[in-house]
Amino acid sequence: MPRNGEAYLNDIKAEARDVRLLGKRIPEPASHPAFRNTFEAYAGLYDFQCAPENLELMTYETPDTGKRVNRAWSMPRSYEELVERRRAIEAWCELHHGYLGRSPDHVASSMAGLAMGSALFRDYDPARAGALEDYYRYARDRDLFIAYTIINPQADKSKQAHEQQDQFLALRLLDQDSDGIVVKGAKMLGTSCVMADEVWVSCIQPLAPGDEPYALSFCTPMSAEGLRILSRKSYEQSAHSRFDNPLSSRFDENDAVLYFDEVKVPWERVFVLGDRAMCQKQFFETPCYAFEEYQAVVRFMVKLRFLAGIARRITEVNGTIKIPAVAETLGQISSEAASMEAFVNGAEVLGAHTADGYFVPDLNMICSAQVIAQQLYPRLITQLRNLAGGGVIMLPSGIEDFLNDEQAEWIFKTQKSPAVAPFDRVKFFKMAWDAIGSEFASRHTQYEMFYAGPTFVLRGHAFHTYDWARSTASVDRLLDSYDLESEKRRAGR
Ligand SMILES: Cc1cc2nc3c(=O)[nH]c(=O)nc-3n(C[C@H](O)[C@H](O)[C@H](O)COP(=O)(O)OP(=O)(O)OC[C@H]3O[C@@H](n4cnc5c(N)ncnc54)[C@H](O)[C@@H]3O)c2cc1C
Repeated sequence: MPRNGEAYLNDIKAEARDVRLLGKRIPEPASHPAFRNTFEAYAGLYDFQCAPENLELMTYETPDTGKRVNRAWSMPRSYEELVERRRAIEAWCELHHGYLGRSPDHVASSMAGLAMGSALFRDYDPARAGALEDYYRYARDRDLFIAYTIINPQADKSKQAHEQQDQFLALRLLDQDSDGIVVKGAKMLGTSCVMADEVWVSCIQPLAPGDEPYALSFCTPMSAEGLRILSRKSYEQSAHSRFDNPLSSRFDENDAVLYFDEVKVPWERVFVLGDRAMCQKQFFETPCYAFEEYQAVVRFMVKLRFLAGIARRITEVNGTIKIPAVAETLGQISSEAASMEAFVNGAEVLGAHTADGYFVPDLNMICSAQVIAQQLYPRLITQLRNLAGGGVIMLPSGIEDFLNDEQAEWIFKTQKSPAVAPFDRVKFFKMAWDAIGSEFASRHTQYEMFYAGPTFVLRGHAFHTYDWARSTASVDRLLDSYDLESEKRRAGR
């Protein structure tokens, strides 16, 4: 059987990790009120893949070791295999409505992409290639949940990593011996690191000459000695109840600064060391980035379906759906949601290609979807707020108000809708606010605007991957269809 939720939670509980929150070290994060429901949400994903009716949809048998693991680890060789793989990603996303950005299938996709490009690593260093190939099999066969931190902490953006006042602000090499390397310093943010088994640490930002000690790529368990997980505020912990905050109470995937306090990494887990170019190439000259961000676009597609559903329900609950201007807004929202379906399908067909025998989705379709998503998401949230008006605010303070008969009576008198009963109106608008207005919702806007990089970076990827030759050929064809001679003839001269 593949990994189930119990096995995942047991593995997490077996090894202590150094999670810090509100001035304390959290001894058992998996049962702490700041994190426990999200641990359960991840366990639920693993349980889902083990249900007999989902086994084929969600998992596959590895060709070399015969283990059944999640399809995100698979390396598709045809369009059909790519789509089978996507259906598994989509089915998991449906369980969390797209709110777990770094669910285990995200970095499993990166790892599969890296392993598909292992020829690049062989050219770089056969020992590092061997480490990568072995680690991929190790992680895949255990269906590990890997998070990643591939961005350096913000500090003085006008300076390179090695020019910062503290040489060890950003994670860098400290030492190396026959067993491995020792690293020290911080990485900016690791979403879901609190809940993951391991973390992939690297640098996707271009590094400058002098930054060689920062050019690293390795994986380490979250329980590694010296690895501090500095959690942001927990929205799960501040969620009042499941009824009041149905999303933040369950799907707060957490983000944490990671500080590596002289962490030892054995050579078997080191993929790149001291090579700035290779750090970049591992993402962009293997299918790593394409598979990683394809997973992200599939997730975004599922999230937009969910938000379009909220938009429609708002207008039904408030009886505004028949107003032409409101229907027009819904048409705009549904078109944007549909555009993401088209991008996913487009990535699988247009420009999808075979590289080293693997079927790789089209990077330009993926990058274009992300550029549009960055602008679309905050606008969509504003549109939803606009449709909702004060409905998301004229709500009882908490589920307890229904338990007081006197107060419940006033709620039933004041919460009216042509479509649903008062309790269901409150239930719906509490959920809608958690999606569009709560602190959790606000973090999601920041996430969708930045998870893959700032605007100028994503637009750069779109610029570099677009088929400009086809575009400019079209312009040239038109311009070539007339010249000075032809114009003289037309003018009769
Ligand atoms: C919720 C959330 C979760 C995240 N999770 C992860 C994770 O799991 N793993 C991970 O590795 N990272 C994660 N990140 C970090 C993310 O990758 C970075 O936020 C992203 O790459 C942008 O980098 P930055 O935040 O340093 O922004 P910056 O690069 O500082 O950009 C911020 C702004 O500064 C301006 N700017 C800066 N430089 C330029 C320039 N050269 N040209 C033009 N304008 C410029 C722009 O206005 C830009 O929007 C997460 C971020 C968020 C918000």
